Order: sequence, then C-alpha cells, then structure tokens
Amino acid sequence: MKEGIHPAYYQAKVTCNCGNEFVTGSTKKEIHVEVCSKCHSFYTGQQKTAAARGRIDKFNRKYGLGEAN
Ligand SMILES: [Zn+2]
Repeated sequence: MKEGIHPAYYQAKVTCNCGNEFVTGSTKKEIHVEVCSKCHSFYTGQQKTAAARGRIDKFNRKYGLGEAN
C-alpha cells in the first residue's frame, strides 16, 4: 500500500459565526462557517416558519410542483 495518496482525515473543529462549535470529519483541521444547524433560519425561530413555507409554496407553484391546478 502506498502512503500519501489520500489526504489526512481529521476530526475537524467547526466554529460558527454564532459561536457554536462542533466536530466533524474533514480533511481540514479547523473549519469556520457562517451558519450552522443551530443558527440557520431553517432550524430556528418558529415565527420564520410561515415565511419559509410561503416561499416553498411560491416555488412549487412556479414549477408546477404544488397542489395548484
Ligand atoms: Zn451557528
């Protein structure tokens, strides 16, 4: 077996702009992200759900994927 073919695989520490940190597998030792599962709007804030839903409905209508006839 040759060595050095595959990049090293680390348990990377991911740091988010919101201050959340978590560990994931990566070829980098450290990763900085702008959004994570903790602060992404999809996962946070019940009040944003309605707006997100509206966008999805709009998308579905646009591409004919919704229930609209
Ligand atoms: Zn975050």
